[in-house]
Amino acid sequence: MVDPDSINKDARYAEKFRVDVHFKNVCERCTDSSRPISELCKMCQEIMNSDIKDSWSIIHAILDVIFFLD
Ligand SMILES: [Zn+2]
Repeated sequence: MVDPDSINKDARYAEKFRVDVHFKNVCERCTDSSRPISELCKMCQEIMNSDIKDSWSIIHAILDVIFFLD
Protein backbone atom coordinates (compact mmCIF):
# COMPACT_ATOMS: atom_id res chain seq x y z
CA MET A 1 0.00 0.00 0.00
CA VAL A 2 1.24 3.48 -0.85
CA ASP A 3 1.36 5.65 2.25
CA PRO A 4 2.06 9.28 1.28
CA ASP A 5 2.97 10.23 4.85
CA SER A 6 5.60 7.45 5.16
CA ILE A 7 7.08 8.22 1.75
CA ASN A 8 7.31 11.89 2.62
CA LYS A 9 9.33 11.08 5.76
CA ASP A 10 11.49 8.39 4.10
CA ALA A 11 14.91 9.76 3.11
CA ARG A 12 15.32 7.07 0.43
CA TYR A 13 12.83 8.95 -1.74
CA ALA A 14 13.90 12.08 -3.60
CA GLU A 15 12.23 15.25 -2.40
CA LYS A 16 10.49 15.63 -5.76
CA PHE A 17 9.29 12.00 -5.87
CA ARG A 18 5.62 11.85 -6.76
CA VAL A 19 3.01 9.31 -7.72
CA ASP A 20 0.26 10.15 -10.16
CA VAL A 21 -2.87 8.10 -9.58
CA HIS A 22 -5.35 7.85 -12.44
CA PHE A 23 -8.84 6.55 -11.83
CA LYS A 24 -11.36 5.20 -14.29
CA ASN A 25 -15.02 4.77 -13.50
CA VAL A 26 -15.99 1.10 -13.26
CA CYS A 27 -19.54 2.01 -14.21
CA GLU A 28 -20.60 4.62 -16.76
CA ARG A 29 -24.06 5.01 -15.22
CA CYS A 30 -23.23 5.60 -11.54
CA THR A 31 -20.89 8.57 -11.89
CA ASP A 32 -22.65 10.82 -9.35
CA SER A 33 -20.88 10.18 -6.01
CA SER A 34 -23.68 11.92 -4.09
CA ARG A 35 -26.11 9.22 -5.17
CA PRO A 36 -27.24 6.94 -2.29
CA ILE A 37 -26.21 3.28 -2.51
CA SER A 38 -29.82 2.22 -2.86
CA GLU A 39 -29.99 4.14 -6.16
CA LEU A 40 -26.84 2.60 -7.66
CA CYS A 41 -27.21 -0.03 -10.39
CA LYS A 42 -27.22 -3.73 -9.44
CA MET A 43 -23.62 -4.24 -10.59
CA CYS A 44 -22.28 -1.41 -8.41
CA GLN A 45 -24.31 -2.57 -5.43
CA GLU A 46 -22.85 -6.07 -5.81
CA ILE A 47 -19.28 -4.78 -6.18
CA MET A 48 -19.48 -2.82 -2.94
CA ASN A 49 -19.07 -5.32 -0.11
CA SER A 50 -20.90 -4.79 3.16
CA ASP A 51 -17.92 -3.04 4.83
CA ILE A 52 -17.78 -0.43 2.10
CA LYS A 53 -21.57 -0.07 2.12
CA ASP A 54 -21.53 0.64 5.86
CA SER A 55 -18.68 3.15 5.58
CA TRP A 56 -20.33 4.79 2.59
CA SER A 57 -23.61 5.11 4.47
CA ILE A 58 -21.85 6.73 7.43
CA ILE A 59 -20.02 9.18 5.16
CA HIS A 60 -23.30 10.09 3.47
CA ALA A 61 -25.00 10.62 6.83
CA ILE A 62 -22.17 12.90 8.01
CA LEU A 63 -22.19 14.90 4.77
CA ASP A 64 -25.98 15.25 4.94
CA VAL A 65 -25.64 16.82 8.41
CA ILE A 66 -22.80 19.12 7.31
CA PHE A 67 -24.73 20.35 4.26
CA PHE A 68 -27.85 20.75 6.39
CA LEU A 69 -25.92 22.97 8.82
CA ASP A 70 -24.44 25.20 6.07
ZN1 LIG B 1 -23.35 1.38 -11.57
